[in-house]
Amino acid sequence: MSGKAQGVHPLLALIAENSHWFFMALIPCPSCKSRVSKQAASCPHCGHQFKASGSINLSDPVHVIGVILAIIIAIGAVMAFLP
Ligand SMILES: [Zn+2]
Repeated sequence: MSGKAQGVHPLLALIAENSHWFFMALIPCPSCKSRVSKQAASCPHCGHQFKASGSINLSDPVHVIGVILAIIIAIGAVMAFLP
């Protein structure tokens, strides 16, 4: 129908890469050297616990930022398709 597909700014693309990094962040297990999701509290391979319950507060802002970035990207993607 229309050829206007350039509605996403380069900055949004950069943010999208950062958001991708947030969601796909993997850390090596200190016990079995396996790559485990950063959100996991314990290693699913060997059961090694990474952090105590006192460090959860540090993860909350990261999750909030990831959600905000996802919303911004979603809005940018929707506006890209709108005329
Ligand atoms: Zn492990």
